[in-house]
Amino acid sequence: MEKTKCLIIGSGPAGYTAAIYASRANLSPVLYEGIQPGGQLTQTTVVENFPGFPLGITGPELMDNMRKQAVNVGADVRSGSVTEVDFETQPYKVTIDDGTAIEADTVIVATGAAAKYLGLADEIKYQGMGVSACATCDGFFYRKKVVAVVGGGDTACEEANYLASLAAKVYLIVRKPYLRASKAMQDRTLNNPKIEVLFEHNTEGLFGEGGVEGVHLVKRKGEPDEKRYDIAVDGFFLAIGHKPNSDIFKKYLKTDETGYFVPADASGVKTLVPGIFVAGDVADPHYRQAINAAASGCRAAMEAERYLSSKE
Ligand code: NDP
Repeated sequence: MEKTKCLIIGSGPAGYTAAIYASRANLSPVLYEGIQPGGQLTQTTVVENFPGFPLGITGPELMDNMRKQAVNVGADVRSGSVTEVDFETQPYKVTIDDGTAIEADTVIVATGAAAKYLGLADEIKYQGMGVSACATCDGFFYRKKVVAVVGGGDTACEEANYLASLAAKVYLIVRKPYLRASKAMQDRTLNNPKIEVLFEHNTEGLFGEGGVEGVHLVKRKGEPDEKRYDIAVDGFFLAIGHKPNSDIFKKYLKTDETGYFVPADASGVKTLVPGIFVAGDVADPHYRQAINAAASGCRAAMEAERYLSSKE
């Protein structure tokens, strides 16, 4: 069976940064990219808050640069997703979706997070036919059309504003009577003439022949003045947060009630299993920013190197 000193799972800013640091520490890391190579940033347009790019950089370009940098310093970057892990005994065993099994002395789990859905059967029915969880990926298809975005956080507001730059009209469906987004983002959203915010609304379902044609809404559900009505839309975008990709590790690593890893100490990357580290959004319910993910990837690689040195 193949053996590596350091196996990195995930290819967002955390995984690639871990790979760069681990390579430069002579750990010859093997990195598996997962189902979405480059991670969530590959679904964004311009990233203006990652230091070092005075005019911003597109998400895909930033991730491509990180990948190239990891490869240039010696990381073995591979396509494939990890389907199973065994962190019971050392060396740890990891199985890839093509059936490959690898033994690793240390593992850095940087599997990120995935967009959440409401859980409606219609979201599945119309997936790829008007339902999307990524405005920057699919907004292009809705130029001069009418779309709805669900959510009241920064992501929802950002996506609503992005879609408003393309679409004729954007409904923002918010379940509370207020937005949770930052003040600046709220102002931008509420002042955008193309965005109509529907406070205290929930989505009951979608309808349409061969694609989304509208949304069944309920306003002030359960209240005496509850009201049900439909709006006509061509696209329905989810922006209600993310779910950490931690399921296959839960047997071995501690998670909180929503599935985010709970690190064992202030390093933010150590777990209770010696030699297993976590990094990036899968362990970060609070900040979820690329720069934080990159920083934790750095810390995880440094801790992996220290752990291996202490064993020698
Ligand atoms: P958040 O968790 O902040 O917001 C999720 C939103 O979706 C909330 O309004 C929530 O409503 C709503 N929601 C959740 N579940 C449902 C549901 N079942 N039905 C209807 N609505 C639902 O997630 P975000 O992705 O917006 O942001 C995550 C983090 O990333 C935040 O810290 C945010 O600040 C940050 N971020 C920063 C950006 C920036 O600075 N440029 C851009 C994007 C994100 P409720 O309020 O009722 O719970």
